[in-house]
Amino acid sequence: MLVTAGRLWYKPDVDDDSLRARLEELRIELMRRSVRNPSSSRSSSKRGTIGADLEDVARAMRMLEKGTYGICEACGLPISPDRLDANPAARLCLEDQRKLER
Ligand SMILES: [Zn+2]
Repeated sequence: MLVTAGRLWYKPDVDDDSLRARLEELRIELMRRSVRNPSSSRSSSKRGTIGADLEDVARAMRMLEKGTYGICEACGLPISPDRLDANPAARLCLEDQRKLER
């Protein structure tokens, strides 16, 4: 694989439009959940809350616009397409996520 600055990831098997649509769906779903259950979005200092998830989705959308979507924030390597498929708003590759949770 040829590595060029600013676009050192390979595209998962989806185009930007369907990715954007998935992220938008995710965002709407999270917002619905926070309306239904406002208390769960209150503790914004802790990861895993709806508020934090919404931030991740917004970040993923910005990265999609910039063409840096799918890059791990810790090591700068591409996040595996499988992982992105399971969680389109993932910020870290599997390895760094594990390190974080340890
Ligand atoms: Zn990483």
